[in-house]
Amino acid sequence: MRTMDAEPMRPVGPGGTIGILGGGQLGRMLAMAAARLGLKCAIYSPEPESPAFQVCDAHVVANYSDTRALEKFARSVDVVTYEFENVPGDAANVLSALKSVQPNPKALSIIQDRFSEKSFARGLGIATTPFALIDSQASLEAALPVVGVPAVLKTSRLGYDGKGQQIVRTADQLAGAWDGLKRVPCILEGFVDFTRELSVVAARGADGQTACYDLVENRHENHILRTTLAPAKASARLKTEAVQIAEKLLDAFDYVGVMAVEMFETRDGRLLVNEIAPRVHNSGHWTIDACAVSQFEQHIRAVCGWPLGDTTRHSDAMMTNLLGEEAGSWPALAAEPATAVHHYGKGEARAGRKMGHVTRLYPLGTRPEE
Ligand code: AMP
Repeated sequence: MRTMDAEPMRPVGPGGTIGILGGGQLGRMLAMAAARLGLKCAIYSPEPESPAFQVCDAHVVANYSDTRALEKFARSVDVVTYEFENVPGDAANVLSALKSVQPNPKALSIIQDRFSEKSFARGLGIATTPFALIDSQASLEAALPVVGVPAVLKTSRLGYDGKGQQIVRTADQLAGAWDGLKRVPCILEGFVDFTRELSVVAARGADGQTACYDLVENRHENHILRTTLAPAKASARLKTEAVQIAEKLLDAFDYVGVMAVEMFETRDGRLLVNEIAPRVHNSGHWTIDACAVSQFEQHIRAVCGWPLGDTTRHSDAMMTNLLGEEAGSWPALAAEPATAVHHYGKGEARAGRKMGHVTRLYPLGTRPEE
């Protein structure tokens, strides 16, 4: 944990209310963590069936373009935060005119756009995948010599879990791939032949203090996170480098809250930042069961101006997402020793939908490979 001198904000204490934009499982787990601290949550979501509604003190069903609903919501809470990065900029501005919005809307707007996100990281001297913006015919032609092939074309905004992405194997596929993404602004990224995907979940408090959870390894299937292994087996150098990257970003954004930094490890042992999430993250779910203070409580603490909690891992952990019908296996999972089952209370178990997760705990230093 690193401490900096700054004027602390007036904390939102027990009995206070946090407004959360977004009502998915992340909002749900934030609300559950807030409850442990005696804090209440009000959830704002356009979806009437939001899983977070089941565990919060108040909820609003309205669109993010509904200025009056947003203003009323802001007035009803002590601080505003969010559980997903695609909060429209206008909504963040309406809210921040009335209440503190954390992480700050400026950081949100930079991270929402893959091109500005990667440019920001690069500007701090942080290594990223090679990239170029494609938003015109001229930039399309200019991108290839910079990035080369194979490459991945991604929409600059609103992509997640591999949606809005096309692999470009040869130069002549690029124009068609951009057509396929409806010629919206895109980023062309060099395809990284990585050895593995790593992430670090980090937090910065209102006083500038930072704290990071252990570096973890993530395994994906069909672009969706399947398993997180905590800790990642990595050298002290790599772990230190990951923490330094996260801290640099947190400070540069003047960030308050939890942030996840997803990275690729290259064959020659370098870390390249792939994506920043301005929120709690799926690769930090293991912290609920393997740390005294989870990423969810950490985020609540940060945005409420509390001291950050201890990020020490008391067990090794393997977190596996339960997708679609897999969540139906809860009776067998619940019977396993040293296993925590998390069910998000979602109705329809569509294929690939994140319905819950399971975290298996192991004594320190003993987690299996998978
Ligand atoms: P993203 O939406 O950027 O997190 O990408 C989703 C997944 O696609 C990543 O977790 C990687 O497995 C893969 N991927 C994304 N970008 C690249 C890249 N530049 N090179 C290789 N694989 C990638």
